[in-house]
Amino acid sequence: MTTLPRLVAFDLDDTLAASKSPLDSRMAALLVRLLGAVEVCVISGGQIAQFHMQLIDNLENVSDEALARLHLMPTCGTQYFRHVDGAWTQIYAEYLTDAEKTDALNAVEISARSLGYWESETWGPILEDRGSQITFSALGQAAPVAVKTVWDPTGEKKNALREAVQVLLPDLEVRSGGSTSVDITRRGIDKAYGMKKLATLIGVPLADMLFVGDRLDENGNDYPVKVLGVECVAVEGWEDTAAFLEILIPQLEAGAADAS
Ligand SMILES: [Mg+2]
Repeated sequence: MTTLPRLVAFDLDDTLAASKSPLDSRMAALLVRLLGAVEVCVISGGQIAQFHMQLIDNLENVSDEALARLHLMPTCGTQYFRHVDGAWTQIYAEYLTDAEKTDALNAVEISARSLGYWESETWGPILEDRGSQITFSALGQAAPVAVKTVWDPTGEKKNALREAVQVLLPDLEVRSGGSTSVDITRRGIDKAYGMKKLATLIGVPLADMLFVGDRLDENGNDYPVKVLGVECVAVEGWEDTAAFLEILIPQLEAGAADAS
């Protein structure tokens, strides 16, 4: 990128905040400052409730004008939220049909049971209907990180389950999600899909965007954005992102001052 970005997009978990945790106050302050300078997007495989808990609820002293520059894309951009007239408003949602959901729920349960991955000790529901995505979490949605880490350290179980479910659902796409989860969506839904939608929706070309994520490696859920050709910054946690923003924001602010 020869010029400064017009939009900065972020992954959520392990990029803006620790996994499933609220933003640190340092990051919250940086985001509010960033919103004063450019459009900002947050895109994640998670649902809007996770955006509220981790992100929105922790932004302090932020004006409606700044919030109007924040673009929220839960479930990889199959849903889109903007701050309109003082409230977070769903602009669109592309849900699976009831038939697709039923097929997906059945396929993943049958496959998990036959592979011996249907656990009896769980924390919250194993299957979740996220509207545009069906998610299987082997140990339940609310399982402690320490338990999740040891369930499938090599990724072998997730891959076996993913492959078995994909065979049953040729018209849908089955992907590895978090450490114990498998996600089912329409074909071609990933963060690249969301970023392309955003470019069209708000008229900012991909070439004028910058993306920050912790999983830009080839197996990571941020990798499709890199493949798309968007300029990317790889981080290993929110502290890296904060350090990067402390350098970027003054440049953006100086750029805005020059332009005015
Ligand atoms: Mg992440």
